[in-house]
Amino acid sequence: MAQASREPIVGAVDAVVVGGGFGGLYLLHKLRALGLSLQGFEAGADVGGTWFWNRYPGARCDVPSLAYSYTFSDELRRDWRWSERYAAQPEILRYAGHVADRFDLRRLIAFETRVTSVVFDEAAGTWAIETDRGDRLTARWCVMATGCLSVPNLPRLPGQERFGGEIHHTGRWPHEPVDFAGKRVGVIGTGSSGIQSIPRIADEAAEVTVFQRTANFSLPARNGPLSDAEIDAFNTAFADYIAGVRSGAAGLITQATADAPVPPVDEQQRRYEELWEAGGVGLLGAYANLLVSEEVNDVAAEFVRGKIAETVQDAAVADDLAPRDHPIGTKRICVDVDYYEAFNRPNVRLVNLRRTPLETITERGIRTSAGEHELDMIVYATGFDAMTGALLAMDIRGVGGARLGDVWDEGPRAYLGLAVAGFPNLFLVTGPGSPSVLSNMLSSIEQHGDWIADCIAHLREAGLSRIAADPDAQERWVERVAWVGNRTLFPRANSWYVGANIEGKPRVFMPYVGPDYRQKCEEVAAAGYEGFELS
Ligand code: FAD
Ligand code: NAP
Repeated sequence: MAQASREPIVGAVDAVVVGGGFGGLYLLHKLRALGLSLQGFEAGADVGGTWFWNRYPGARCDVPSLAYSYTFSDELRRDWRWSERYAAQPEILRYAGHVADRFDLRRLIAFETRVTSVVFDEAAGTWAIETDRGDRLTARWCVMATGCLSVPNLPRLPGQERFGGEIHHTGRWPHEPVDFAGKRVGVIGTGSSGIQSIPRIADEAAEVTVFQRTANFSLPARNGPLSDAEIDAFNTAFADYIAGVRSGAAGLITQATADAPVPPVDEQQRRYEELWEAGGVGLLGAYANLLVSEEVNDVAAEFVRGKIAETVQDAAVADDLAPRDHPIGTKRICVDVDYYEAFNRPNVRLVNLRRTPLETITERGIRTSAGEHELDMIVYATGFDAMTGALLAMDIRGVGGARLGDVWDEGPRAYLGLAVAGFPNLFLVTGPGSPSVLSNMLSSIEQHGDWIADCIAHLREAGLSRIAADPDAQERWVERVAWVGNRTLFPRANSWYVGANIEGKPRVFMPYVGPDYRQKCEEVAAAGYEGFELS
């Protein structure tokens, strides 16, 4: 798509918001209500973030649509009607557009513009922001709503440049329809993106070859049209829903607790059966210690492996699809529509890259140790440089010119996942050290948006202009994030939660999985921003 031409933006604003996804939109809305002058920047051509970029067939939310929605406006909630339990990408993108129009947010954002550097000017106490379109702005406040899953991981596979067919990454899917008809399509990767797209590609393509390195656990979505009765029930119980979100109990992953009893195996199996039938991620929340106790986790994992064996007709394929190298839930759980069923189709086959490693991409396809698979198209469903990728792609320099990349050399360090010591007046939305990707992201975005806006309002009322995380408070928080994480089974998996999918990335469990996050943020604010230096 051609970039629309425009004059560079120069001058000074109160706040810059980087990112035009759900995070950026909410922050712009909140900060405008404070009367701040604002400039938003978004690399994509429109709002939507994740849902702007991930247009691959089958893309949909894995949190129910009714919950994967903003809650700040009752009118918005009542006017918007989701058509399915788990909305598909085009509908979620329309929702983002609707929010942008309804709250008049688009005109605050410069699109097709990538922020390249963000440098703190100590004397002025402001940030200097530069973009790839020649914009040069200063801002007192800088909000990074750059997304946890916005930088695609394109592994450098040997021979890649030789391939004569089409290549697409699920996270940079073209806007024009991709024609699969009659084609032999190879999909590399079996995380959520692969698992969602494979059955839908198989609906159209002549053949789909799935290149699986690590088998993943997936639960059936049980998607379907959303009835008026379901919407009414949600609205009727909305106050309870919000109370659950605010108490921290309504996360995607129930906060892991060690001190729950281990239920008898037959009781667990009955419960898993019910939750499997109900669909969605609920099975992971069956017991508070499912992600802490190996004993409980093993029963859940075996239950899902049993379901795979029941579903997939070819026993050898079923065996290859059964994950055995990580506890269930410690890699992000997938939610699918007919994923395992797809392997019963005559046009879908599985290549187990552990048994027959990928050797090279060729002109005609992919060669593994067992031979060449001829392909017309390769789909990379290979994920993202998660949580830190978008932040470290910019040249962010704080006090004394310290580069964020150097400060985070051994892994991200952030106070509450909201701020980084040495980087005053710079806020992260759903940053590392917050529940973030383990939660319903819309809830976490609203919580961070509210907290950041309240913080700026507090400073302005108090006649203050600078807030910086205290290094000691940050260290204590980073230790707590690690301590809580280490009491769970999460660190056992080579997941993107620990950065294991990106070569050379320090291995650190990045999200906070403790039970008291919201309360902690509220206490910090109530105590006059404890753990921050205000001036
Ligand atoms: P994003 O939506 O990622 O938006 C960040 C934006 O910042 C991007 O548009 C990017 O272009 C822009 N940006 C980054 N760096 C720069 C820069 N330097 N300059 C300018 N712009 C920049 N979460 C859930 O809770 N439930 C789900 O069901 C769910 N499904 C998902 C499905 C997919 C396919 C993916 C990839 C993620 C999913 N997520 C889900 C996580 C999802 O990312 C969040 O729910 C949410 O959309 C994040 O919003 P955001 O605004 O924080 O980030
Ligand atoms: P992902 O979970 O990181 O999965 C990437 C897949 O690619 C993995 O199977 C990985 O194998 C494989 N892979 C990576 N490099 C490879 C290589 N060099 N050779 C062979 N295989 C390789 O990425 P994702 O599927 O895009 O999902 C990322 C996250 O986005 C999800 O976890 C979720 O949070 C979100 N998401 C949500 C939904 C949804 O259902 N709503 C949909 C899509 C994405 P290994 O495991 O062996 O590394």
